[in-house]
Amino acid sequence: SHRTADGTPDRHGGAATDAREAPAKRVTHWIGGAAVPGASGRQGEVFDPATGAVAARVDLATPAEVDTAVAAAVAAFPAWRDASLTKRTQVLFRFRELMVAHRDELAALISAEHGKVRSDALGEVARGLEVVEFACGIPHLLKGGFSENVSTGVDSFSIRQPLGVVAGITPFNFPAMVPMWMFPVAIACGNAFVLKPSERDPSASLLMASLWRQAGLPDGVFNVVQGDKAAVDRLLEHADVRAVSFVGSTPIARYVYETGTRNGKRVQALGGAKNHMLVLPDADLDLVADAAVSAGFGSAGERCMAISVVLAVDPVGDELVAKIVERMARLTVGPGDDPDADMGPLVTRAHRDKVASYLDTAVTEGAKLVVDGRDTPVKGGASAAETPGFWLGPTLVDHVRPGSAVHRDEIFGPVLSVVRVASYTEGLEIINGTEYGNGTAVFTNDGGAARRFQNEVEVGMVGINVPIPVPMAYYSFGGWKASLFGDTHVHGTEGVHFYTRGKVVTSRWLDPGHGGVNLGFPTNG
Ligand code: NAD
Repeated sequence: SHRTADGTPDRHGGAATDAREAPAKRVTHWIGGAAVPGASGRQGEVFDPATGAVAARVDLATPAEVDTAVAAAVAAFPAWRDASLTKRTQVLFRFRELMVAHRDELAALISAEHGKVRSDALGEVARGLEVVEFACGIPHLLKGGFSENVSTGVDSFSIRQPLGVVAGITPFNFPAMVPMWMFPVAIACGNAFVLKPSERDPSASLLMASLWRQAGLPDGVFNVVQGDKAAVDRLLEHADVRAVSFVGSTPIARYVYETGTRNGKRVQALGGAKNHMLVLPDADLDLVADAAVSAGFGSAGERCMAISVVLAVDPVGDELVAKIVERMARLTVGPGDDPDADMGPLVTRAHRDKVASYLDTAVTEGAKLVVDGRDTPVKGGASAAETPGFWLGPTLVDHVRPGSAVHRDEIFGPVLSVVRVASYTEGLEIINGTEYGNGTAVFTNDGGAARRFQNEVEVGMVGINVPIPVPMAYYSFGGWKASLFGDTHVHGTEGVHFYTRGKVVTSRWLDPGHGGVNLGFPTNG
């Protein structure tokens, strides 16, 4: 894999720099209800991917600064856990309204640091808000069961209680939505939360923190520590952190899962992906081509649910490739704040170069480079390769061999591969033979074939004529195999389960006719 758990080599670049360099916008921590500048002297560079310029510097926390944030959460927890369900939901409803009111501002921040186009950033905010809306129903979700007379005069009931301080560690590709998969549910359940956002695009976290404060969330219930591996490692070993939700690449997800569980924490760690779209010969090829282009190049392919491989069952390959090429030619590549742009730049120079290197790999491996994104004009001007900033246009590679690097690796950029297969069975075997199991889709008009696929495919999220089958907030999001470590998916009822512990109470009220001492194992009667 491209990344080891000790953090080297770093495929994104953006190495930590000395804080005494030229001042730019500074992104701080948020601890105990206020912005707190870091004191470590270590900062990371945040780029404007459209120009390549350093747009901000983000403070990188020391272990001691993580401890301060966790201590603020520990202090805030008892009162928040005892706040009534009514009080908690009122805060959530107000947070939801404030997020709606500030969604353009949030989308602009995301777009400026990540590079994705504004409409896509707004979509990310909308999907995150669905989880906030789901969490507004927490009183219903926390209801327990009650059984009268489990034994004569004895009742039994179950309750779910918050864990305490829980942490979220999130990736660059959804700086608002992925944190929102976690903290609305965790906070609604009565926990205090420490977020460690991606250091590539950290600003969205601070806007959300200030909106929580305006919504009336008590100080210390939601905290943000900016940082890198040093902050993550401290969260993973801190005795007061009870649970960790992680989303990011597979090597780090595995590391977080192993380290966190070794330290006695509950961990859900979502990893990388390589999502295949299986196109059966009876499918509507115009629908398929629209879906493949949207799902392959939306957000420049930097989505864990992006489609990166089209499995074209014979004989549709040539016709489908022609339809995809036709649609790719109509895409406009440009900065995220350009309303005409369909696709923006990649997140960093290092990531852009790594993605682009797969174009040469593809040729070396004997595949056919049908559309070379290095030649794509940016805003109708110079080519992607010649424009300052982290640009690479939509790229199509045909006749990719199953098991080759281009097929196997998570490229995480605007590179769509086509693999030609002879049958449904060959396509299914390729999907089930990959390391990952996040998302997949089948395109067909045959209900029986689709039903067989949903049954046989070893993937956590399946689309039937739907290319990016991201579950709604009231279902749970998560993949199989190397796409998720742990057994609990995020949000939905699994999220509520993850952020709470069950307790069963068995109670008897004053009964003078009790049976006296009895050393036998309690049975019902
Ligand atoms: P990443 O693994 O590099 O970083 C994720 C988080 O881990 C960041 O907060 C980062 O600071 C931290 N981190 C990085 N290196 C570390 C190390 N050595 N030790 C401890 N912590 C470390 O991921 P990314 O590049 O930010 O995001 C892209 C990846 O996330 C892709 O692989 C994508 O598929 C995956 N992703 C998965 C899902 C999903 O639901 N399965 C969703 C979104 C993104």
